[in-house]
Amino acid sequence: MQGNYGVPTITLKSGKGLVVTDTTGKKYLDFLGGIATNVLGHAHPVIVRAVSKQIATLGHVSNFYSHPSGIALAAKLQELTGDNTSRIFFCNSGAEANEAALKLSRKTGRSKVVATTDSFHGRTMGALSLTGQPSKRNPFKPLLKNVKHVTFGDITAMRKAVNKKTAMVIVEPIMGEAGVIVPPFGYLKQLRDLCSEHGVLLVFDCVQTGIGRTGVWFGYEEEKIRPDVITLAKGLGGGLPLGAMITLGSNCPQFAPGEHGTTFGGNPVAASAGLAAIEFITKNRLMVSAKSFEKRLKIKLGAIRGVTEVRGRGLLIGIGLDGNYAKSLAGKLSERGILVNAPSEDTIRIAPALIVTKVQIDKFITVFKECMEEVDRG
Ligand SMILES: *Cc1c(COP(=O)(O)O)cnc(C)c1O
Repeated sequence: MQGNYGVPTITLKSGKGLVVTDTTGKKYLDFLGGIATNVLGHAHPVIVRAVSKQIATLGHVSNFYSHPSGIALAAKLQELTGDNTSRIFFCNSGAEANEAALKLSRKTGRSKVVATTDSFHGRTMGALSLTGQPSKRNPFKPLLKNVKHVTFGDITAMRKAVNKKTAMVIVEPIMGEAGVIVPPFGYLKQLRDLCSEHGVLLVFDCVQTGIGRTGVWFGYEEEKIRPDVITLAKGLGGGLPLGAMITLGSNCPQFAPGEHGTTFGGNPVAASAGLAAIEFITKNRLMVSAKSFEKRLKIKLGAIRGVTEVRGRGLLIGIGLDGNYAKSLAGKLSERGILVNAPSEDTIRIAPALIVTKVQIDKFITVFKECMEEVDRG
């Protein structure tokens, strides 16, 4: 393989619920969830059933044809947006969903884009042009011109950058890869007002914050506003590769026949898994439990020596540390059988499956506390 992921030290072989097993037989509690992707954990019966039934019935058809799972999932997503004029384009990943939004924004007749510093929107050349992390961008310049990055959470900086030539503004409701950075409450609404004033498309990249992760279906809903475009992936496929770009409102541009496409996007198997995941989350009120686990994690983790801050919403949580030892702490947790990651030098991120239990949450808190006592905090 290419060296782009380095050389992983763990090879995972199987999983059930939140527990994964590596090739040596060691078991781990998966508190990263494939980076906010395995919303129902591993080998969940409803996903296994949906996927097995679908692959045994109709596996792939190309987008020359529609199919019942794709139609049902699109209808479900439309319902979740609360807008019967919303329209869905399915793809396979977050980068592709953002590429679709970027391409769609050209239909406004404008070409300038404003995004935020440290944001993450994917690795393909268009999505990378939106991404605001120099370390990921710099080796691949020149990227798309006309993309400006301003400080996240700073509405004044955004006001200076946005004007009548701006096609779209793209923002993560909570910046995930940057270390679970939550903007001041009201920022998203201010963005909405600003974009409406200038006729600019407001795109919320909910790839990491979508599908119940933060305690609502899409990560922006607390502010009671709607963007023009939502992008989704990660949790959307219940562990299968699936992305979506959703336009809202009848004024939002739409792709005309032939203007965009992808072979696998909205594939029946991935769509059936996505539908099963959304139905299970709804039926079992997993967003309610995500909110109560957020409270518990914030209180208990916040009281641990060395923890400076517990950020995030629902089950997307960033644990701020009082030094740059997140990587060695993540290593210790892994030795002790808990998988997390360190999106920055002083942050641990957790994004466990929404089916996590109170017992597993408490186990995590206990082991985390013990590892904090052992780690060299510098
Ligand atoms: C992961 C992520 C992406 C990219 O998704 P891929 O499926 O890896 O292309 C885009 N935006 C956000 C907010 C993400 O977290």
